[in-house]
Amino acid sequence: MSDASAKKLQTANIPPPNHVKVLGGQGWIGLLDHMGTETTAVNAARVSFGKIREEMNERDIQLLEYLVSNQHTSPLEHIVFTFSVHCPLFIRSQWHRHRTWSYNEISRRYTEEEIACYVPETVRAQSADNRQASFESDTLDQAVCAGLITEQNRTAVGLYEKLLAMGVCREQARGVLPQNLMTTFWATVDLHNLLHFLELRDSAHAQVEIAEYARAIKKLILPLVPNTARIMKW
Ligand SMILES: Cc1cc2nc3c(=O)[nH]c(=O)nc-3n(C[C@H](O)[C@H](O)[C@H](O)COP(=O)(O)OP(=O)(O)OC[C@H]3O[C@@H](n4cnc5c(N)ncnc54)[C@H](O)[C@@H]3O)c2cc1C
Repeated sequence: MSDASAKKLQTANIPPPNHVKVLGGQGWIGLLDHMGTETTAVNAARVSFGKIREEMNERDIQLLEYLVSNQHTSPLEHIVFTFSVHCPLFIRSQWHRHRTWSYNEISRRYTEEEIACYVPETVRAQSADNRQASFESDTLDQAVCAGLITEQNRTAVGLYEKLLAMGVCREQARGVLPQNLMTTFWATVDLHNLLHFLELRDSAHAQVEIAEYARAIKKLILPLVPNTARIMKW
């Protein structure tokens, strides 16, 4: 492998220049690439008339508003984003339920490098009447809980390293790593399906941690789709 390609591989797990930190700096999401603009979507909607515009005018903004507000979403599929996401495994699991995205993820079958585990900045209490909900509570001892979680993370990583040292293969040893393990994946999605994701995940019903990522996505794409952001009231 050349020095240049080795360097590229090493940097796959660090945030790209345009990123937003989340989870108290332990996680991040970066915008790696994008294709198409709001003008592309408007042109796609009008393709049947054979007219293409270079820049949006007031009527185009109205058309975009009509498209977004009336679920005429296929023109939005011509705008595509690729993100790099660094998050705990339990957030990765929720994210990957969104089948309309394309994903590629770091594999613990191939690497034992850069193992990091998440420790929540604040632990929340379980809601009594809603299994999906949690809330911040004064009765929880934050320092003790953070200490216990850190200790358990360390124990699990220690056992993983011990198994590797004993010659156990990575693909089996990884089974002892916790749900708090940080992972990195690339995720590509079009604007139609991204709006659906943001509606579900920047929501009071979603887990607080994934909602942070959803809000970070809004920050990253706002300069690229400013009219959509206004229509969606971000
Ligand atoms: C608050 C919350 C709680 C959740 N709790 C749970 C839970 O307890 N257990 C659990 O298993 N999941 C849970 N989920 C995941 C949820 O069921 C969905 O899998 C996830 O939100 C992805 O939504 P989606 O299918 O609409 O998105 P995508 O997979 O991105 O699909 C987008 C749209 O494409 C269409 N589509 C995609 N695939 C198909 C298909 N095979 N057939 C028909 N139409 C399709 C649908 O219209 C769908 O809405 C939860 C999600 C949220 C937001």
